[in-house]
Amino acid sequence: VPALIIQGCDALVSPAEVRRGVDIVIEGNRIAAVEPTGRGELPSGSDVVAGCGLLAMPGMVNAHTHSPENCLRGTGEGLALDVWLTRMFGTAGAYSPDDHYVCALAGAVEMLLTGTTATLDHLWMTPPTVPAAEAVLRAYRDCGIRAAVAPLVADVDFTEALAAQHGLDVSGALFTDLAPPVPADEAEAQLEELLGRWHARDGRRLQVVAGPCGVQWCSDELLLRLADTARRHDTAVTMHLLETALQDEVCRLRFGASAVHGLDQLGLLSRRCSLAHSVWLDPDDIELVAERGAIVVHNPAANFRLGSGRAPIPDLLDAGARIALGADGSASSDNQIMWTQLKLAALVHNGDGDRWVSGAQALEMATAGGAAALGLGGELGRIEPGALADLALLDERGEGLMGVQEIPAGLALSETGRGVVHVVVDGELVVRDGRCTRVDEDALRTDIADQVTKRRAYQEAVPRPTLEAMDKIARLRSARDLGTRRRAQ
Ligand SMILES: [Zn+2]
Repeated sequence: VPALIIQGCDALVSPAEVRRGVDIVIEGNRIAAVEPTGRGELPSGSDVVAGCGLLAMPGMVNAHTHSPENCLRGTGEGLALDVWLTRMFGTAGAYSPDDHYVCALAGAVEMLLTGTTATLDHLWMTPPTVPAAEAVLRAYRDCGIRAAVAPLVADVDFTEALAAQHGLDVSGALFTDLAPPVPADEAEAQLEELLGRWHARDGRRLQVVAGPCGVQWCSDELLLRLADTARRHDTAVTMHLLETALQDEVCRLRFGASAVHGLDQLGLLSRRCSLAHSVWLDPDDIELVAERGAIVVHNPAANFRLGSGRAPIPDLLDAGARIALGADGSASSDNQIMWTQLKLAALVHNGDGDRWVSGAQALEMATAGGAAALGLGGELGRIEPGALADLALLDERGEGLMGVQEIPAGLALSETGRGVVHVVVDGELVVRDGRCTRVDEDALRTDIADQVTKRRAYQEAVPRPTLEAMDKIARLRSARDLGTRRRAQ
């Protein structure tokens, strides 16, 4: 069997273990052997990549993002998430399937070039259609990244009920005003169609997963039908959870309990479920999330950018919860470079109760944790025989790793992604010598610049209805005094 061999590299085989001077033998889409260099016999006809001076590491998984935002970087600085959402959707405009294709490809290339080999795209679409989702799947197929696409759907917004308690009108500012609502039966039919055509194609390089927008934006029926569809197809479910204090209040009004308990009562809290943000979990929620094996996707950059708060990561780690790492959409974070997330995850929780998050723990989130969110737990995140062959190879003399003593800490705290030389996904070299092997990067840069231009008019003169909607949500936030609410620590 012709193989791909990385010869004579060093390897971070797991987040805390480095092996020096090894050959990594890849057959098909899996790692066949990791052995001291020169020890094994190289299969004839193999593609041999010189690994001397390179560090191999498991490819990172960006477990939460929104690809349409790749042409909306730097949107709405200085706004809280609840208000920012209104601003972002109010100025993004409509996306054709071709627009979606370009934005998804741009994010995928940014990820691949910086050593991220897989992504979970919680895909909002304006309007939400099957052709739009298929354009995104095509973009991921074309560049070779491993990807799960979760079509984002919402059918109600329970924020209206909380506003009504204060006699406030939030019409025009509800999620269902910002993006077209999708009724439960339609959402289920669209998901079924995409699953039938795309799920688990290409050796599970592409997946389709269920993507209810979030607890406060979905009816019980929508949540239940999507979860049921996911169960029938043995795929994952992903959603936003408790990003802000306002969402916490809305969910408590809806369920008479926390959002986490509400989800559990509906039977959604399970090992197939990933929960983006989870900033406003209380101690009971943390125990329950850990017990059910649901995966929390930590998005530190977006949470700080939008003033949402700091997710209780040390408490979740203490409880034994599974944690992944995400960039979130580029309109809030403002790139798809996972090194930023690694560094923040390894910094922002430190000293809390004299607890620390190590570089190795952050790497575990970015690799094995993300694999779990993709339903590929145990198959990704280690460089070992039998694992899927998703790897990044970094220059040990590059500005990130040059001078580093302890590799896991150095990766999390010093590397920026500029040291990435080669990237392997599913056994295929998709980045060679710092260039994507399958994508015309110059043409893509022109296409994404066109997307930016296309949406600039809205960004420069925010439409009046959007400004009014932002003001309505801001008033609801101040009625609840949410600007000053802090999670008890
Ligand atoms: Zn998100």
